Amino acid sequence: MSNNVIVSKFGSIALSTAEMVRKTAEIIMSDPSRRYVVASAPGARHAEDVKITDMLFILNSRYENRENFNEMLKRVRDRFAEIIQGLGINFDIDAEIAVVKKNLFFGKGNDFIVSRGEYIMAKILAEYLGWQFIDAASLIFFGKEGRIDQEKTFTATSRILEKTEHAVIPGFYGSIGGTGIKLFPRGGGDTTAAVISRAINAGLCEKWTETTKIYSADPSIVGNPEVIRHITYEELKQLTYMGINVLHEDVILLMQNMGIPLGIRNIFDIDDEGTGVTDELPPESRRNVAACIAGRRNYRIMHIEKFGLNRLTGIGQKVFGIFTERNISCEHYMSGIYRFSIVVKNPLFDLKRPEIIQALNDAIHPEKITVEKNLSLITVVGQGMGTVKGIFAKIFDAIAEAGIKVRMIEQGSDDLNIIIGVYDDDYENTVRALYSAMILS
Ligand code: ASP
Repeated sequence: MSNNVIVSKFGSIALSTAEMVRKTAEIIMSDPSRRYVVASAPGARHAEDVKITDMLFILNSRYENRENFNEMLKRVRDRFAEIIQGLGINFDIDAEIAVVKKNLFFGKGNDFIVSRGEYIMAKILAEYLGWQFIDAASLIFFGKEGRIDQEKTFTATSRILEKTEHAVIPGFYGSIGGTGIKLFPRGGGDTTAAVISRAINAGLCEKWTETTKIYSADPSIVGNPEVIRHITYEELKQLTYMGINVLHEDVILLMQNMGIPLGIRNIFDIDDEGTGVTDELPPESRRNVAACIAGRRNYRIMHIEKFGLNRLTGIGQKVFGIFTERNISCEHYMSGIYRFSIVVKNPLFDLKRPEIIQALNDAIHPEKITVEKNLSLITVVGQGMGTVKGIFAKIFDAIAEAGIKVRMIEQGSDDLNIIIGVYDDDYENTVRALYSAMILS
């Protein structure tokens, strides 16, 4: 399909009221390349409000627990009715709600009931735009083990959309086993948009949400950080690890290396170009090598010391095995000559610490095991971090000048990040020092 087609996904806030739907429609119509729109279910209108998806989860569980579900069904109906009325369109919401009720009684199950939030909203939006509605169940197919059957999905989607000029498609679900419906994980409308973009080889996939921009450092620490204008999928993965959840990992994996850029846009700031995610940075991009300073507090670092450790084989395997058996992931590890150190996340580690130490003593008889608490990990993320000259010097000058003691350093072999471990008390100062050295100058 033509490469200038845009697939646009609108999140729940963008479709939360009639006014927001009008605004969304204006965005859609402002670019003729926006031919396929993926819709979420209406979101919360204010802080105390409940989004339709959550109401539908409650509705189904009330039905299954034989509790009174009618009030919840009515609330769902009224939310949609309010939007329909505000848009002034002709749409029989009671017929749709009757189908939901009938399927509750048929025991269609949670995924079907919850998916009706996006299904009905996509139909309403299609009606308002005068576009075709295409059910995601006829485009996206789950196969065995609940994974997307990519071949079937891409073939069906490209075949159907090839013949469709414009369409609104509900996000968040696909079909399974012929007549069943299966949901993606929460926030899964993004996955729908990614799948469709890949199937038709779109020129651009857009994600429109209310969330603020992607900053190059935490605004609550550095004040008014720069917005990241361009970032690669690989860099975004690093941010995801540090808890900056811009996109679900599945979406990144689907989009990466496909040559399809992703635009992250803000519904409340339409003129802002947002952030572009691509496989490679475009020539017009930015910036210093570093794209972002991100971090997390509250790690632990365990040091295992044993004379002759360097000559022993299978130590790593034993140590990792002990952690794996207890379901604790080793986030990072470093080996010195006689020392093996592992960075783990709290709080699960603290709970299991005595038995881990016991197991390590039994398995490898170390001379000493120590645990340092309150470790923060801060990562300087940027493609080329490992190959550009002088990066280390810049980082450590900045940290030394700020008087911060470094507990560990790790340079990812993937050339994408340098991770610095400091004590939690130094976390904010380190972020500030690195932000001014690596992003601002
Ligand atoms: N409505 C779904 C959720 O709340 C999916 C989405 O918004 O993308 O998670």
